[in-house]
Amino acid sequence: MRFIPYGHQSIDDEDIQSVIEVLKGDWLTTGPTVDRFEQELAKYVDARHAVAVNSGTSALDIAVQALALPKGSEIITTPFTFAATGNAILYNGHNPIFADIDPATRNIDPDQIRRRITSRTRAIIYVDYAGHPCAIDEIGDIAQEYDLRLIEDACHALGASYDGRKIGTFADMTIFSFHPVKPITTGEGGAVVTENAELAAKLRMLRSHGITRDIGHMFGEGASWGYDMQYLGRNYRMTDIQAALGLSQLRKISSFIQRRNEIAALYTRVLSDLEWLELPSTLEHVTHGWHLYTVLLKGVDRNALFSYLKERGIGANVHYIPTYKFSYYQKHYPQDVTSFPGVEDVFNRILTLPLYPDMTDEDVWYISENLHEVASDLRIPV
Ligand SMILES: *Cc1c(COP(=O)(O)O)cnc(C)c1O
Repeated sequence: MRFIPYGHQSIDDEDIQSVIEVLKGDWLTTGPTVDRFEQELAKYVDARHAVAVNSGTSALDIAVQALALPKGSEIITTPFTFAATGNAILYNGHNPIFADIDPATRNIDPDQIRRRITSRTRAIIYVDYAGHPCAIDEIGDIAQEYDLRLIEDACHALGASYDGRKIGTFADMTIFSFHPVKPITTGEGGAVVTENAELAAKLRMLRSHGITRDIGHMFGEGASWGYDMQYLGRNYRMTDIQAALGLSQLRKISSFIQRRNEIAALYTRVLSDLEWLELPSTLEHVTHGWHLYTVLLKGVDRNALFSYLKERGIGANVHYIPTYKFSYYQKHYPQDVTSFPGVEDVFNRILTLPLYPDMTDEDVWYISENLHEVASDLRIPV
């Protein structure tokens, strides 16, 4: 039986050829192809600088590091995201402060951000859940009012836009991921995009051991062998092999996003008669990236439905287990779950249906048929 996963990469011959070309050349690790990928990525989101790294997680990590906040600073973020968002705060010795979400978009609620601000708050990391941009204007106002830095975790949202402007230039730094299920892929990979030249230069050092070749007269005139290590950086470099795939993928991003929007619209059309499903909605001033199509169940046992779909080759999923529920966070950052009624309600009822550009309309109809049959099979009262 064919299995329809919740997400999947789209790779064509042009992608394969692009990678082969690099393999035949001299540069395997960070070289001219990474430069070109960064330029094209920056151009696509209309930003000044893009710094490519080996994962979205690495991008988040060095973005937080680049802010150089005092240790123990509080950074407000959403718990309804992949674990990496909160972890980037912990890697850097800061305190993640979780704020509740707006159940309609599953995005961090600006009013809840306001309630969490203290004298130690220094930054906000907001996540454009499923590719639906956050309440960016409201979050921007809060940042101005309290002098907070902004990092946009746009790992779902490459190609999405807000007020007609591509996601990428709203926050101090914007993070993208190129994991296979994300809007474009490099196998593994990520990037930080910024308008700020100083931050970009620092990010370039941080991704490669904190090392620079810009050393002035440190070792005397003409010491072109010299380099200096100015920050405690890592090896987070993207390879030219990955960047070659990224360049080729980036050429297709518009058609990927368009296809994702078509599939989402088809789901919404064919599922709208099911009263036990709450379908996702899109606010007016945004273009949705549709990384995920998530529904909320009303009076249906999620585990039973999940197994039912799996038996029929449909790979539903749950995005996300709230970060504060993980053992590590419970041990080190225990939270009172009653502070997150939005997250708790959504988490208990949410299910991700398959969505990726190579899915066919027939796949959507097949999933719809099964969801229509499940009502009688699982004896859902309708
Ligand atoms: C995928 C993802 C990440 C991490 O990206 P990787 O490239 O897998 O390291 C971070 N945040 C969010 C919201 C993600 O979906």
